[in-house]
Amino acid sequence: MTAGVLIAEMASAGLDVHGDRPLAPLTTYGVGGNGACVVKVSSSEQVIAVSEVLRRHPEVETLVMGRGSNLLIADHGFDGVVVVMAPSSTENAVVVDGDIVEAGGAMLMPVLARRSVGAGRGGLEWCVGIPGTVGGAVRMNAGGHGADMATSVVDATVLSLRSGQIVRVSAEQLGFYFRGSALSNNHVVLSVRMRTSAQETATGTAEINAVVSWRREHQPGGRNAGSVFVNPGAGDESAGALIDSAGLRGFTIGSVSVSEKHANFIQAADGSTAADIAAVMAHVQSTVEEVHGIRIYSEVCLVGFSPDLMTRFTHPSHSSALHVAAKEQLQTLLGEHV
Ligand SMILES: Cc1cc2nc3c(=O)[nH]c(=O)nc-3n(C[C@H](O)[C@H](O)[C@H](O)COP(=O)(O)OP(=O)(O)OC[C@H]3O[C@@H](n4cnc5c(N)ncnc54)[C@H](O)[C@@H]3O)c2cc1C
Repeated sequence: MTAGVLIAEMASAGLDVHGDRPLAPLTTYGVGGNGACVVKVSSSEQVIAVSEVLRRHPEVETLVMGRGSNLLIADHGFDGVVVVMAPSSTENAVVVDGDIVEAGGAMLMPVLARRSVGAGRGGLEWCVGIPGTVGGAVRMNAGGHGADMATSVVDATVLSLRSGQIVRVSAEQLGFYFRGSALSNNHVVLSVRMRTSAQETATGTAEINAVVSWRREHQPGGRNAGSVFVNPGAGDESAGALIDSAGLRGFTIGSVSVSEKHANFIQAADGSTAADIAAVMAHVQSTVEEVHGIRIYSEVCLVGFSPDLMTRFTHPSHSSALHVAAKEQLQTLLGEHV
């Protein structure tokens, strides 16, 4: 990639852009290499400015980063443009319009939960348990505590880095499925509107406290990306239970371990590498398949790994006709097929 050209063009558009920047500090695992061109954006205008540069360079790969709480970036980094979403002070508030709560794509989910509750709105308390951004949660269809984005989102305002178009996309058009959506690496969620109901703030605060306590009791702290493997499906045990009963709690390569507290979490530590995390994932996947005859797939997004490794960890349903059609419809809606 012509990183130098991109950096020069973005800098002359007034953007906060740097070449060859470490991505590890921008992720919760704290591993991975550098981004060839890393641009930090904190307003829709800045995302539009990035898309104007990218439209002159359609060959360049893109990666949108929120809080990096669901990303495993390879040790050799990402040889494209990394768009890092940072909340601006003015955009870090929710807008309440009747039953709808609207939040910016860079807002952190715990902030969304607390601001909604503070505004007397109920239904988004579960978001306090997701340590990522609203935009990342839309892309991943994040969920927990009996709820997910698919059940809460009314629509999202999405910008295509390829066409430059900004479209309000309905929940149906977002093509949600379990821990995913039809959004791709070229799409930036600028904002989202979510359905809520009237609720006393004290009730919502108690619910938030209950979610936080549950997380502290059941999940490890430290460097991880939450659940690594997707639950296999109705009727089967959870991925965590399968990993646990395959005797993998505490399994370690280098300084990377399967958590003793929650078997579907993989913990990184000082000196950890993305390669070691991927190796632990591969061992867990193979062992679970040997012991239980069930293949489990990654919930964490892998960036910059070999095609073989990506295929190994990607659920086959992601290439199903249904998902491919949903992705194509969304690309058409965003003006990418002209
Ligand atoms: C301790 C812990 C607990 C967790 N618990 C849960 C849980 O209970 N349930 C759950 O679902 N997840 C959980 N996660 C995973 C993670 O927090 C969610 O997937 C979260 O929604 C990711 O948001 P992010 O901003 O960190 O996204 P990132 O990790 O930065 O990116 C994830 C994906 O979203 C894309 N993306 C990010 N921002 C945008 C944007 N603005 N527009 C378009 N695409 C974007 C990225 O390109 C990437 O494909 C947990 C993680 C941790 C560390």
